[in-house]
Amino acid sequence: MAAGKKIQIYDTTLRDGCQSEDVSLTVDDKLQIAERLDDLGIDYIEGGWPGSNERDAAFFKEVKRLKLRHARIAAFGSTRRAGIKAAVDRNLHLILQAGTPVACVVGKTWDLHVREALRISLAQNLEILNDTIAYLKKQVDEVVFDAEHFFDGYALNPDYAIACIKAVADAGVDLICLCDTNGGRLPHEIEASMRAASAAVKCPLGIHCHNDSEVAVANTIAGVRSGAVQAQGTINGFGERCGNANLVSIIANLQLKLGYDCVPADKLKTLQETSMLVYELANIAPHPRQAYVGRSAFAHKAGLHVSGIQRNVHTYEHIDPALVGNDRRVVLSELSGRANILYKTREFGFDKELSKEQIAALLDELKRLESQGYTFDGADASFELLMLRTIGLAHDHFNFVSFRVFDDKWHEDQAPFSEAVVVIEGPDGQRTRNSAIGNGPVNALDSALRRALVPYYPNLENMQLVDYKVRVLDNGIGTGARVRVLIESTDGSRQWGTVGLSSNVVEASWQALVDSIEFKLHKDNVKPRVTARVTANGARSNGLAKTGGKYAPPKPPRRVNRAAAAAKD
Ligand SMILES: [Zn+2]
Repeated sequence: MAAGKKIQIYDTTLRDGCQSEDVSLTVDDKLQIAERLDDLGIDYIEGGWPGSNERDAAFFKEVKRLKLRHARIAAFGSTRRAGIKAAVDRNLHLILQAGTPVACVVGKTWDLHVREALRISLAQNLEILNDTIAYLKKQVDEVVFDAEHFFDGYALNPDYAIACIKAVADAGVDLICLCDTNGGRLPHEIEASMRAASAAVKCPLGIHCHNDSEVAVANTIAGVRSGAVQAQGTINGFGERCGNANLVSIIANLQLKLGYDCVPADKLKTLQETSMLVYELANIAPHPRQAYVGRSAFAHKAGLHVSGIQRNVHTYEHIDPALVGNDRRVVLSELSGRANILYKTREFGFDKELSKEQIAALLDELKRLESQGYTFDGADASFELLMLRTIGLAHDHFNFVSFRVFDDKWHEDQAPFSEAVVVIEGPDGQRTRNSAIGNGPVNALDSALRRALVPYYPNLENMQLVDYKVRVLDNGIGTGARVRVLIESTDGSRQWGTVGLSSNVVEASWQALVDSIEFKLHKDNVKPRVTARVTANGARSNGLAKTGGKYAPPKPPRRVNRAAAAAKD
């Protein structure tokens, strides 16, 4: 698509977004976000209100050290106070002190606010607007005026609202951004008011919406379609009350659906990581159902949908998720049908077509496990193993014999530690007993099991656990509740997730741990190293002797049927 009309993107995450009751960003966070926004191709970054707090003042100092390639930094403030000249207004001074190329000031355009909040005459407010802009225009390269409550003002007293924006236009403002500050207006109202404002003033207009009616993005689009050349908003829609218009969705909609030019086409795919970075720095869990960039935005669970997207992705996707840096995901659950299973087998690189019977067996097993509380979402490796075992393509690389875990705490003010003893039967049929100390039972079990297996499988040496999550199911049963453990492992080149379930957290962890190791061994497809070794009773033996010098595959696994085990819990 050829680049369409340019729409400036003005980000106010660092100012309006920080009005969110649960958002607090440090100066370092703000600098990181500014760099990310610049890389994305955002035109303006509003850094804060230098008159309101020291943190914002510090940001303006530090941001000058960043080598921003595209974005212009804006300092925010309000029009001068009544009864004084702009030149002596302290807040305007602080804006100028910030030393930014752009100044943005907010002022009143709704007569109700002039009378009730400022308690001055309507004429006095017009004077304030004109004087403030004329003064700033002499000192700063670019001046933006935020017409606070413009749409409410226009609905109730259109003549006065228009007189206000004329006053700032006459003073030489560079752009007037019309604001739906209370977030109460609907798209058709935005369109009508925007057209009226366009007809009344020659200077460019922008649009700044809040989300109190959950149409902030729609209102912004309506504003752009009726003449605005600048869209203001925040990443992920952070902001006071219900938030601001979400710039992530605005950019994607304007660029992908309407053909406007907002950010460079190749930068659009960084929208998802930009959204995640802002969530992370704000320490807020990402919204999974967020349009375009949420984890569920392109997740398909119903079997019908999955069979649809396999034929043609357009059947259940409004855009290609890769365009905004997101991924398509197929979720497995009891709602899953044959299509989900087939999609996964392909994703896991199975060239061999599964028979109808194998798919039915796999689906049955999956539904049985999920009814027990297993979830394979986030545990693809466990699912792959389940699939391989069900169709007979995977064997276990060792047999479980027993484990014991002890927890010790010796002094009140010292952390406890755990010791685990693990007995396994290796691929050579030899039983070994290994123990290890850890900072917790799972850590100790992991070390002891690894100690037992590394002599056979040295490739386990470079594998480690990177994440461990416990979730309590059956809320209300208290300490008897079942827990689901998700483990994330890596070997440096790949990362995989496994799951375990039990009413005993150590057992659930053990299951996830064993799957994690089995998955690694299956993927690496290495033959075990079987040499003379010391067995548990200290006698030196060679497993090969028993099998005539050849490695014999282990006996059929003595794996406990997980569904049956869970059912007993
Ligand atoms: Zn706002």
